[in-house]
Amino acid sequence: MITNDNIDEVFAVLKSEIRSLTPPVIERIYAKYKNPFYVLISTVLSARSKDAVTSAVSERLFTLINVPEDLSEFSIKTLEKILYPVGFYRAKARHIKLLAKKLISEYGGKVPDTIDELMKLPGVGRKTANLVITEVFDKYGICVDTHVHRITNRWGYVKTKTPFETEMVLRKKLPCKYWKIINRVLVTYGQNICSPVNPKCEICSLNKYCEYGIGKGDIR
Ligand code: SF4
Repeated sequence: MITNDNIDEVFAVLKSEIRSLTPPVIERIYAKYKNPFYVLISTVLSARSKDAVTSAVSERLFTLINVPEDLSEFSIKTLEKILYPVGFYRAKARHIKLLAKKLISEYGGKVPDTIDELMKLPGVGRKTANLVITEVFDKYGICVDTHVHRITNRWGYVKTKTPFETEMVLRKKLPCKYWKIINRVLVTYGQNICSPVNPKCEICSLNKYCEYGIGKGDIR
């Protein structure tokens, strides 16, 4: 089982394992543009969408918009066409247009830097808010998406039923030095090794620690 007695070893292994893997889409978008507005929009678009789709749609949108004012001027129908085939593109078209308008009317066109303020924006939940404050503003947050929730439960590090519960347990238990990186690390690991179905425990370097994977490395 993974506990705070071995969490440093676990993160050391993870950091080394993901070095050669492609980072998650939001991290790539921030590294490329250093633009909080783009990161916020891409994070909203990324919900229930594959990274490749989020990336292609984000890049298409970013050729057309620079600031919230640009986005707010598009019709919903046009936005739907731009966002297709991202998951729930119709709802997301409505959300990002409203979000742009709210950024203009209440935040002077700037992306707010706290979870509470971010969560007042249309289409923004805890996951998005945590990701924006950690990726863009370098503040302490724990973004628990499906990968972080699944993997930390497989490890036995948490025993939780929902991502919200996982975030709350991690906020009490996970050393602060890992808060800002856990999402990046586990999304990359979850997309490549610890997948939702048929995780590759037999080749996973964590199988001697992980509650789910213990013993599964013997077949190597
Ligand atoms: S041993 Fe299996 S379940 Fe555990 S982290 Fe590795 S791939 Fe995931």
